[in-house]
Amino acid sequence: MSDHSSAEPDAAAPQPPAGGLRKRSTDGSLPSAQKRDLQRPASPEPLPISVYDNHTHLEFEDGFEQLDPAESLARAEAVGVRGVVQVGTDLETSRWSAQMAAADPRVLAAVALHPNEAPRLAERGLLCEHLSEISRLAAQPRVRAVGETGLDFFRTGEDGREAQLESFEAHIDIAKANGIALQIHDRDAHDDVVATLLRVGAPERTVFHCFSGDVELAKICAEHGWYLSFAGTSTFKNAPALREAMRVAPSSRILVETDAPFLTPEPFRGRPNAPYLLPHTVRRMAETLEQPLDEVCALLVENTERVYGSWQMEPETR
Ligand SMILES: [Zn+2]
Repeated sequence: MSDHSSAEPDAAAPQPPAGGLRKRSTDGSLPSAQKRDLQRPASPEPLPISVYDNHTHLEFEDGFEQLDPAESLARAEAVGVRGVVQVGTDLETSRWSAQMAAADPRVLAAVALHPNEAPRLAERGLLCEHLSEISRLAAQPRVRAVGETGLDFFRTGEDGREAQLESFEAHIDIAKANGIALQIHDRDAHDDVVATLLRVGAPERTVFHCFSGDVELAKICAEHGWYLSFAGTSTFKNAPALREAMRVAPSSRILVETDAPFLTPEPFRGRPNAPYLLPHTVRRMAETLEQPLDEVCALLVENTERVYGSWQMEPETR
């Protein structure tokens, strides 16, 4: 729990979404029988050049020691993670992400309805209405991506696919209409995601969040100028194919993320994740690419700012 006795009250800091911080329930990366260690890992050694976590969910609480969004950002900053893209997955978290970004210079926002959310909304006749609200949020100056959207054939069965596809296509249009990036969630759906992007026309800056493909998909991304964002999964022992994909990706197309509170990098797989653990993934990336760590950090900064623009607050937007 945080100690509020010494903290200055900050009127500008948005409160957690209605109902409080969300509880993390499942971890798709772990066998369900495996017991998780809920202790937060210690902070890693700071990176030589501060980078960005381009995909995180600060609205989740996890583990024994709670970190509220402000604590999480401060702890990240202390180890060389200067900013994050806070990602929404439904209307409530998308609105909250946009508010966070408007209030904090370390945060930019991505807004979307998650692909597993789309069929549920369609069933209730709410998909169109929610998409219009996402479209309104996407016009805000510190909302710099539409995501996470895409296709998930792991959690959604055949009967939900039509709604997923409809929602994905609408999100692609929103990204293009606003000239902002697209963050794709692609789970067991590589071929259909690529086919959809090619059929509809991908936004100029398209990111495969938590890249989960192989060399073949990395080459397709390279051919079309799409970005590959590597998460903690790229550090897992059983993921040599991801590191192989990383090596064939053009250096100008590589990004890094935590997808916190999920996908904690090695050596802490399964424990609560947060942006301050990003340096583990960056260090492993430098090893994989056989590049000096500071050069990899500089490259990541350049790539991330090319995709999302500057984190700096415009004085008039405050
Ligand atoms: Zn995510």
